[in-house]
Amino acid sequence: ISKLITIDGPSGSGKGTVCHVLAKKLNWHLLDSGALYRILAYAALQQKVNLDDKSGLADLALALEVSFVSNGEGVDTLLSGENVGDKLRTEEVGKAASEVASIQEVRSALLARQKAFLQKPGLIADGRDMGTVVFPDAKLKIFLDASAEERAQRRFNQLQGKGFNVSIAQILSEIKERDHRDRNRAVAPLRPADDAFVIDSTTLTVDEVVEQILNLVAL
Ligand code: C5P
Repeated sequence: ISKLITIDGPSGSGKGTVCHVLAKKLNWHLLDSGALYRILAYAALQQKVNLDDKSGLADLALALEVSFVSNGEGVDTLLSGENVGDKLRTEEVGKAASEVASIQEVRSALLARQKAFLQKPGLIADGRDMGTVVFPDAKLKIFLDASAEERAQRRFNQLQGKGFNVSIAQILSEIKERDHRDRNRAVAPLRPADDAFVIDSTTLTVDEVVEQILNLVAL
């Protein structure tokens, strides 16, 4: 039987990094569900599928040829064999991802693909609805949160490190806007599962969050 930890939360909560570290430490598989929504958005923009064409997007979601392949440092994201990793992180794709993610037909089309990641010895599932919708039976569910200001600061540091010239005020307002959309959408709104442990990472390091989660695994 495969083991499973779901980790949900808003963008910038540190989920991505925490999930990578955990998957590596435990030697488990990793599902980056946000990447699936981003890949779908990227493919839709490329193939000029309208972002309000629900059945067109659902068909595209079913047809996507996606694979995640580990390289030495991280994971390459391949779409029909092409490494699209860097292209998924743009603001344009992020915004389109959150639009396609609000369509029920799209979420249903991606469901089986996500469930298929649950394989031995175990899975770290990173997303917004891992504990509520995709893996409701998971024994260990985490909801990782942080203040909007701290999440904006982290994103700012990340972008600055990559040489982007950005304003923290602008990032903060984009984060608040996306939070509002993700928490208030009709379909799969972002919220902790009833049986999730909520961890506020505002004043915690990645290692401290990982340690807290590993302590829960050991319970
Ligand atoms: O986590 P990431 O920022 O890559 O996710 C991109 C978008 O995909 C989010 O803004 C969110 O709206 C959506 N998403 C989702 N459900 C998931 C993962 C991501 O709706 N499980």
